[in-house]
Amino acid sequence: MADVPATVYLVGSGPGDPELLTVKANRLLSDADVVLHDKLPGPEILEAIPEHKREDVGKRADGEWTPQEYTNRRLVELAEQGKTVVRLKGGDPFVFGRGGEEMEHLAANEIPFEVVPGITSATGAPGVAGVPLTHRDHVSSVSFVTGHEDPSKDESAVDWEALADTGGTLVVLMGVGKLPLYTQALRDAGMAPETPVALVERATWPEMTVATGTLDSIVEVRDEVGIEPPAITVIGDVAATRAEVVDFLLNRSDDQQTRATNR
Ligand code: SAH
Repeated sequence: MADVPATVYLVGSGPGDPELLTVKANRLLSDADVVLHDKLPGPEILEAIPEHKREDVGKRADGEWTPQEYTNRRLVELAEQGKTVVRLKGGDPFVFGRGGEEMEHLAANEIPFEVVPGITSATGAPGVAGVPLTHRDHVSSVSFVTGHEDPSKDESAVDWEALADTGGTLVVLMGVGKLPLYTQALRDAGMAPETPVALVERATWPEMTVATGTLDSIVEVRDEVGIEPPAITVIGDVAATRAEVVDFLLNRSDDQQTRATNR
């Protein structure tokens, strides 16, 4: 144990393009003794970190997730050994990233820490796909929600009916698998079936894929294109903006898929 614990940095990596790391994140990654990460920062950012510094606390070889308690414990243990730790998280550490829990655990154990925000995929993924989350002509509010919960369960914390009523843009994280359930819940709540929807998979990664459709067609489009996690779902009129600009949009994406689904 060191006399004084080292600092833990809770760092957001941005959506995956190494050029979208902040200058500060980059410096901390170079200076860190250990980087605790999962797969979400994407292959390019992870491959640039020397192997001897990396500890993967994401999905394990047996397919199970590393328990959060282990990660919490490991952060404290390393800091107490005097090792400077970067806890690298995809996007922003405090947007569906459990950064809050880790911060509380560090404080409870009297470990000094710093929070380094990143570009969240919730705004970055729609952006590079040519989907503005607000638009003077369409909407003036945005909601960020998890699609991970089963909308048919009584205990679902997401009130899809209330979200449909906002009339604003909906951005769903972790929403590939349950897409059929919450698109149905939104239609049941009175949202128009022709409401535009965009799916942005692996935004800013080399194999980024974008697919567009409507509340009615998007499940079929997802299956046709083979959209898989991690992906962001954008629901609302703004999702149709992509079609107007895509011919001039130079952000990298799988053009073939874009053409196939841009109808
Ligand atoms: N803290 C992260 C979110 C973690 S939750 C952030 O701020 O971005 C995990 C979800 O994030 C995924 O299921 C997906 O919905 C979204 N996500 C993260 N990176 C993504 C990317 N590069 N492209 C699309 N979606 C992404």
